[in-house]
Amino acid sequence: MTFNDFNLADPVMEGIEAMGYEKPSPIQEAAIPIILGGHDLIACAQTGTGKTAAFLLPLIHRLLGDHEADDSIQALVIAPTRELAIQIDQQLEGFSYFANTSSIAVYGGGTGAGFDQEKKALQRGAQVIVATPGRLISHLNLGYVDFSNLKYLILDEADRMLDMGFLPDILKILSHLPVKRQTLLFSATMPEGIRRLTDRILIAPKQVNLAVSKPAENVLQAAYLVYDQQKIALIESLIEGKDLPLVLIFASTKAGVKEVESILKRKKFNVSAIHSDLEQEQRSDVMNRFRSRELQILVATDIVSRGIDVDDISLVINYNVPGDAEDYVHRVGRTARAEKSGVALTFINEKEMGKFKRIEAFLGSTIRKLLLPVHIGEGPSIESYERSGNFRKNFIGNSRGKGGQRRNNNR
Ligand code: AMP
Repeated sequence: MTFNDFNLADPVMEGIEAMGYEKPSPIQEAAIPIILGGHDLIACAQTGTGKTAAFLLPLIHRLLGDHEADDSIQALVIAPTRELAIQIDQQLEGFSYFANTSSIAVYGGGTGAGFDQEKKALQRGAQVIVATPGRLISHLNLGYVDFSNLKYLILDEADRMLDMGFLPDILKILSHLPVKRQTLLFSATMPEGIRRLTDRILIAPKQVNLAVSKPAENVLQAAYLVYDQQKIALIESLIEGKDLPLVLIFASTKAGVKEVESILKRKKFNVSAIHSDLEQEQRSDVMNRFRSRELQILVATDIVSRGIDVDDISLVINYNVPGDAEDYVHRVGRTARAEKSGVALTFINEKEMGKFKRIEAFLGSTIRKLLLPVHIGEGPSIESYERSGNFRKNFIGNSRGKGGQRRNNNR
């Protein structure tokens, strides 16, 4: 499935492209059509699954189609903490850059000036409000927030909101909202309290359940920050002189696979490659030789990775960072099958840092970066990795100040 399959409006697709997303995550595949279909939704999904985009993308699309004035509040997103509200707001800012969705962030910063800014913004109105419950209640109590045109309510991390004692606040906020609306509830877990809440506030909801898949625990995962021209030398130093019966190297393109194969062949490694230019028969032949250990190293593209079911692969090398977390988990899962342990190493060049960071965010963990062997020289620095992938800084610039200011990007 691709993002094209959702038939989202062009400005939303441009936002997706600018954010660098290539393929919808499983929660996005499941939730986006339901939301576009106008149904209430209960989604069981943790942070890291891509749940934020799962509700923001259809929301921005629907808002483009609704012809309400830009200053009438049409959607409310409630999140338990300031940090989460900030993250949602930042993603909204990125995705809606081309759609011109106006939004207000109401999560406070503790200062009186911040509160006044939020108040002014709320009085002017905007299409989307992203808020924490307590702060929103303070504004609601003062009587200037007009929710009469609201059509969408999103409760994010609902289980956490209940744990933090926000139920009375949420019920109070709900009493200010029109009954006819679409309600989406996201929660990592579904305890009894959440069930009771969903029974009360959702109408005929559809439900999706998605936990993020993670590589098996017995895979040792690590990565190298490495320039392209250092990669072959790194492979040599990883393989030479070690007892590694089966090594699988993934490269992203057919040309890459062929190149790695031919360089390793020239260096007298026992290697062959598998890619879509080969006839089925030739592929089977290579696979059989790999399975029977006649071949030590197999170089492959992602396209064929799903067909590779060979136990006992001791080392998987990602010559390029995989396109997304699903592909990463899939490639890494080629090792450590059948309870055995294995090692999966990913090569990250200077252009792929942001992509790998997103994979780490999906997995909810940071993968250890190893130092290159001294004879290979220095690779890209870890500092450059830490700085990479900052979409807001690189793309949007500072188009909006702190919470409370109304944003309406003019192209
Ligand atoms: P979330 O679960 O919404 O907190 O998202 C976790 C991370 O995954 C965030 O850094 C998102 O930017 C990123 N992400 C979400 N969906 C995708 C996607 N389809 N492709 C690539 N990255 C994504």
